Amino acid sequence: MNIAIIGTGYVGLVTGTCLAESGNQVCCIDIDQNKIDRLRNGLIPIFEPGLEELVRRNTKEERLTFTTDLAKGIQDARIVFIAVGTPQSMAGSADLGTVFHVARLLAESIETPKIVAIKSTVPVGTNAKVAEILKSAKCRVDSASNPEFLKEGAAIADFSKPDRVVVGVRDLQVAEELHNLYRPFLRTERPFLVMSPESAEMTKYVANAMLATKISFINEMANLCETVRADINDVRKGIGHDERIGFQFLFPGAGYGGSCFPKDIRAVIHMAKDNGLPSVLMGAVDEVNEQQKCVLFQKLKRHFGDSLASKTIAIWGLSFKPRTDDIREAPALSLIRELLEIGCPVRVHDPVALNNVRELFGDKLSYSTKPMETVEGANALVICTEWKEFQNPDFSQLSLKLSDKLIIDGRNLYNADSVTAGGLTYDSIGRAKATPGQT
Ligand code: NAD
Repeated sequence: MNIAIIGTGYVGLVTGTCLAESGNQVCCIDIDQNKIDRLRNGLIPIFEPGLEELVRRNTKEERLTFTTDLAKGIQDARIVFIAVGTPQSMAGSADLGTVFHVARLLAESIETPKIVAIKSTVPVGTNAKVAEILKSAKCRVDSASNPEFLKEGAAIADFSKPDRVVVGVRDLQVAEELHNLYRPFLRTERPFLVMSPESAEMTKYVANAMLATKISFINEMANLCETVRADINDVRKGIGHDERIGFQFLFPGAGYGGSCFPKDIRAVIHMAKDNGLPSVLMGAVDEVNEQQKCVLFQKLKRHFGDSLASKTIAIWGLSFKPRTDDIREAPALSLIRELLEIGCPVRVHDPVALNNVRELFGDKLSYSTKPMETVEGANALVICTEWKEFQNPDFSQLSLKLSDKLIIDGRNLYNADSVTAGGLTYDSIGRAKATPGQT
């Protein structure tokens, strides 16, 4: 089948590449000329495990092409996906400017019947508005909603083996065509769920609302554990074995970030407000998360008091989660900003996100490509992202390098005894602060 994808970012590039890999002819469109030029030369603008090889192979075999020319890019397509960004607007709602702009361009350019499927995360009612815009096209255009559930860092696997595919349509024939496109990815009996566009739009927000709620819930419980000298790790086990609760997505940490949860939770709050409904729970989820992003700084402040400004802080992990270079709303950025504000020298390391952070902070930080080099001359180390390579460091070596012998772990990577045995003080989330020699 001939497919066009508008918006070649994390979602658009992965979608386009995976659809090309399953034998479709795919054209990825973007307004960013530099990104398109780089992709044409086999250079991948984002870090996503496995993506580079797939892009190169499908480009070489001429199933995957890239352009900035929307009218030309969609010409032969039967299905056009909209995968542009829907960031948070100043008012807190989802900014749909680009989605509607693209819909208008499509209405002007479409010359043969097409399905336009909205993959971007959009509030309920957007599909109906896009359908209205597309009515002015020269021929029949059906609009569908096809929210995306992939996770950055595991995007290829998630797209190739989705837990489910959700489509919102007004016409079952449109669902059938989309089902045919997705069939190669649903061979292990994963469901293809057909519903109204409104329900499909809502499904994406409700999924993210549930996941963010779990994170804020466990973070609030972790903070309480820490204060009353309970251990959130033990408590987690104690609750997780209850089959009604389970273990998934109940890891305490330094708050959620990324390009989706923060803006999607605020979009839900906005949607409720627009419809005259309260959103007490979502408001609390957002507020708990904002506070949690300050927890690492507060721990440093508690440890060092007023002398914090004179301490050099090393940070491991800058992306909002491991296996991605995405730093949008990453908890590490909040910590960096707070430290810079009081004049702390900050040394940072991340396996793949250094360049993105450098673009934001320039020479205000010291960058290092090696974890152990980052801690040279630092007083304390803070861990913000749970990259695998941070899981088993040499604590004795860290103890020699960190002049105040302190690790603050925002992801609970270590067993406290192993850290303190190396001569370090260890402060993590939802567990008592551990010091060497303590019983
Ligand atoms: P992104 O910022 O990585 O990519 C968006 C792309 O659209 C950019 O490359 C940008 O240059 C391009 N673009 C902007 N205006 C354009 C235009 N007029 N024509 C063509 N291209 C244009 O965003 P993303 O992370 O891929 O997210 C896209 C959508 O998918 C959002 O609504 C997001 O909420 C949703 N989503 C994201 C994820 C995720 O993990 N990133 C997962 C599920 C859903």
